[in-house]
Amino acid sequence: LAKLTSPNGLRFYDPAVQAELEARTSLEHDLRLAIERQEFVLVYQSQVDSLGRTIGAEALIRWEHPRNGFVSPGTFIPLAEETGLIVPIGNWVLEAACEQLVAWANDEHTKHLTLAVNVSAIQFQQPDFVDTVCAMLTKSGASAHRLKLELTESTMIGKVDNIIARMHQLKALGVSFSLDDFGTGYSSLQYLKRLPLDQIKIDQSFVCKLHRDTDDKAIVQTIIAMGHSLGLQVIAEGVENLEHWRYLNEHQCHAYQGYYFCKPVSATEMVLRSLAPPRMLT
Ligand code: C2E
Ligand code: MG
Ligand code: MG
Ligand code: MG
Repeated sequence: LAKLTSPNGLRFYDPAVQAELEARTSLEHDLRLAIERQEFVLVYQSQVDSLGRTIGAEALIRWEHPRNGFVSPGTFIPLAEETGLIVPIGNWVLEAACEQLVAWANDEHTKHLTLAVNVSAIQFQQPDFVDTVCAMLTKSGASAHRLKLELTESTMIGKVDNIIARMHQLKALGVSFSLDDFGTGYSSLQYLKRLPLDQIKIDQSFVCKLHRDTDDKAIVQTIIAMGHSLGLQVIAEGVENLEHWRYLNEHQCHAYQGYYFCKPVSATEMVLRSLAPPRMLT
C-alpha cells in the first residue's frame, strides 16, 4: 500500500500513487515472462550515407504485450534497467541481431549491411558481457565486423578504465562502437578522447529543430567538426526532412538516420527498402 507521510506526521493513502504502483508491479511481472512468451521483436531503421544509400540499420526493440498491445521501449526499458531484467532482454536482442546479420550476409543485396544494437549501461557492465557477445557471434556465425554496439554516456559512469579495457577486448573481435544520444550527457569531451569509439551519434534533440534554431545549427556543426578532427564517423539521428539532411550534408556529416529516409520497419521490409533507389538530395 502506498503510504504517504504528510508534514504534520499524519499518514494517508494516495489512490493515484497506489494505482501507479500496481500498474508498475503488473508490468514488471509481465516483463519477466515476455522473453519465454516470445513477445519481443526487433524492428530496423535504415542508416544511409551522403548519397542516400542504405549502409546499415539500427535494431530497435518492440514489445507486443498480450493485453495492452504495443508497449514502447521508452516505457519498459527504464523498468527493465531498474529491475535488472535488461540483462536477459539485452541478451535476447544481441542474439536476434546476430541471427539477422547472418540472414543478411547470405544475400548478395544485403551482405554489406551493418547492424547497430543498443546496449544499456548495466548490460555492458556485466562481468561476462564480452564472453556473451563472443558466444553469440560464434553460435550464430555472424561477422563481428558488421556488428556495432551503441553505448550512451551513462555507460561511462564508474570505472572508466575497466570500460575502456572491455571496449578494446570487443574491438579486438571486430565489433565497433557508437556513442548514442551524443550531446545530451555531461562528460562528452573528457571521455571522447580516451574511448576507443568509431562513431558518435548526434542526438535527435539537436537535429529536429535544425531548420529553425540557430543554436542547434551551431551545436550540430561543432559536433560534426569535432568528430572530423578526432577521426570519428558522425551519424545524425532524427533526420525528419530535406532541410535537416541538407544542413547536415553541407557540414559533411557521414551518415543519417530518421523518418525522412525510413521509419523502423520489419526485417522483410528493411530488405526491400535497401533495394529501392536511394533518396536524392535535391
Ligand atoms: P535511441 O537508441 O536513441 O533510438 C532512436 C529513437 O528515435 C527510436 O525510438 C526511433 O524509433 C526514434 N526515431 C527514429 N527516427 C526518428 C525521427 O526522424 N524522428 C523522431 N522523432 N524519432 C525518430 P524507439 O524505437 O521508441 O526507441 C527509444 C529508445 O529506447 C532508444 O533510443 C533506445 O535508447 C531504447 N531502445 C530501443 N531498443 C533498445 C534495445 O534493444 N536495447 C536497449 N537497451 N535500449 C533500446
Ligand atoms: Mg540507439
Ligand atoms: Mg539515439
Ligand atoms: Mg535519442
